[in-house]
Amino acid sequence: MGLLALGTPFEWAEAKEHADNVRRLGIQQLIDIWKNYKGNERDVLLWGDETEYLVISFDDEGKQAYLSLRQAEILNELAKYRASEAAKVANGDKPIPTFHPEFGRFMLEATPGAPYNVGWDCLLSVEADMKLRRKIARNHMAPNETPISIPSYPRLGTPGKFTEPYHPPTGSKSRSQFLPDEVINPHIRFPTLAANIRSRRGEKVAINVPIFYDKNTPKPFNDPTVDYDRHLFPEDDDVRNGAAKEGHIYMDAMGFGMGCCCLQITFQAKNISEARNLYDQLCPMGPIMLALTAAAPVFKGFLADQDVRWNVISAAVDDRTKEERGEKPLEKSRFRIPKSRYDSVSTYISDSPRLLPEYNNKDLVIDPEFKEQLMKNGMDEILATHFAHLFIRDPIVIFQETLLAPPDGLADHFENIQSTNWQHMRFKPPPPGESIGWRVEFRSMEIQITDFENAAFAVFIVLLTRVILSYDLNFYIPIDKVEENMKTAHARNAVHEKKFHFRKNLFPTRPVTPTRDEHGRISRPPSPSRAESDADARRAQVDNEYTLLTIDEIINGSKSTSDDEEDGFIGLIPLIESYLNTVNVDVQTRCDLARYLDLVSKRANGQLKTGATWIREFVRGHEDYKGDSVVSDKINYDLMKRVEKLGNGTGELDAFDEQLLGKGWRRV
Ligand code: ADP
Ligand code: MG
Ligand code: MG
Ligand code: MG
Ligand code: MG
Ligand code: MG
Repeated sequence: MGLLALGTPFEWAEAKEHADNVRRLGIQQLIDIWKNYKGNERDVLLWGDETEYLVISFDDEGKQAYLSLRQAEILNELAKYRASEAAKVANGDKPIPTFHPEFGRFMLEATPGAPYNVGWDCLLSVEADMKLRRKIARNHMAPNETPISIPSYPRLGTPGKFTEPYHPPTGSKSRSQFLPDEVINPHIRFPTLAANIRSRRGEKVAINVPIFYDKNTPKPFNDPTVDYDRHLFPEDDDVRNGAAKEGHIYMDAMGFGMGCCCLQITFQAKNISEARNLYDQLCPMGPIMLALTAAAPVFKGFLADQDVRWNVISAAVDDRTKEERGEKPLEKSRFRIPKSRYDSVSTYISDSPRLLPEYNNKDLVIDPEFKEQLMKNGMDEILATHFAHLFIRDPIVIFQETLLAPPDGLADHFENIQSTNWQHMRFKPPPPGESIGWRVEFRSMEIQITDFENAAFAVFIVLLTRVILSYDLNFYIPIDKVEENMKTAHARNAVHEKKFHFRKNLFPTRPVTPTRDEHGRISRPPSPSRAESDADARRAQVDNEYTLLTIDEIINGSKSTSDDEEDGFIGLIPLIESYLNTVNVDVQTRCDLARYLDLVSKRANGQLKTGATWIREFVRGHEDYKGDSVVSDKINYDLMKRVEKLGNGTGELDAFDEQLLGKGWRRV
């Protein structure tokens, strides 16, 4: 959403004085949206993806790769291009892709020119659209620059030069030891975000990622790049106070997290109820897809003992005070808050009776006044709880001008809180005054090296939503198990080595026929003691509904190991296949879809490697690698070249690349 309003942001000391006001205005804006749009019906099913890129600047003579800091210039060129094509688009040409700024000044985000509809042709045009985005982006860069798509840049924050141009690692916004403020998008919103998160927290953010111990890695590992003797800012004390943990790669700035790239998919549902259902059903898929798309094994020049970016971003924007984190008794802060603003979902939101209270088993921190106000305005308790939970957070960046403008007909204050709650799903209400419906965003996936892979995961999730809606599938497990899965998904090679809580039977169970007494009357509602034992029975039932499965079992299904049919799990790809058998798809479409489903299936069963494993093995097999977990400039240069080659679809695949992509992947 367009949060790039220009203006004068408050520094934290002042912003916090206006926080209550912004929250109140935001809730009022939400109430207006709710009133105006809750009755939306028959919105069309639309969807769209977001792909993010790092801009690499190569020095081929010196065999060096750097992050290019020319985001603004490149976006400028892209905007000119878009304008020059406007007439053609007005005459009916396909809208050209849209490019957006991101936190990192070395990043770009791209989306399709317009959202896709439900047609098969749209589904099959995604890969070509993604390729077109990459090509257009590249065409508006310098000849030695290229967009690449991996989640985390291996040399971000390493000693010496890692950006083009070079900037020494200092700056009053982040106060980082490793990242210059020049890596931040200079639009005033972004440096203010970084500075205000740090100020609110009362110290720098502290990101500790476990080191991957290789045969020559010093044990115990103490991050050798940490400077314990710097005295530029008060925050330099953080490391003297123990911010950098033994056995971990230590990072100290927002840019390490928000400088990561992901793949997100947004769906528009036909009405609010369907959107709420989709949000809940996709929620348990978040950790599964995180592990399956894992592509981030290197941080700050070291191999990590994890494969994904998620907890790095989570810690990178963790603005909670010590009191909120539970490290000090509550005095000045209002709540104990168990999670960062960027974290897994903590509550389901559907209005369906299938959402049993036992699934929402987290003690949710909420603002009770907002909950009451929303309910007084007709919002049901479940949805009111969701928003009252988001609204425990402070707005981080407040533009002074927005407090002077009348709030009516806008969503800016609402979005200020909403879009800085970075959970793995996002429930997006309609923006006022536009013909956009209730949407749901799936946010956990890691960006993939090639558009083939990005399209495959996008197509898989889109097909899954169709199956969910067509068969009215039920993915509910207790939300604390989703949270546990999210942690599990971080482990190195979690996709093959870990098990995840997952619902055993996805099909809707038949409604229980009401019991009747001997006169044929429907039994009376249960007495209180009965209700209590019902709750116990429900808990027992819920505990029996899910089990631990591997991702292979979840995606590809598992055979029953005994006579008990119930033992086996159907598998999401077999489910999608059977759905495709029932709808009218032509043979060509079916073959084209099979390419994508095949990739997802083989990533899950281990026939193909994840991006994370592929990158890790590339590093460990490199002639310059010393077995000490260090990913040197030289290794990085060769890796970036390889990733560029795959991303741009140029050059031949060798056997190693085929372990990532399979044979014959370059068909579109
Ligand atoms: P954000 O950054 O807030 O998540 P973006 O605007 O960057 O949102 O991207 C959202 C995605 O949603 C894009 O792929 C876009 O094409 C898609 N999209 C836009 N409008 C709709 C809609 N009405 N329904 C579904 N998807 C939409
Ligand atoms: Mg965004
Ligand atoms: Mg976006
Ligand atoms: Mg983005
Ligand atoms: Mg260097
Ligand atoms: Mg998004």
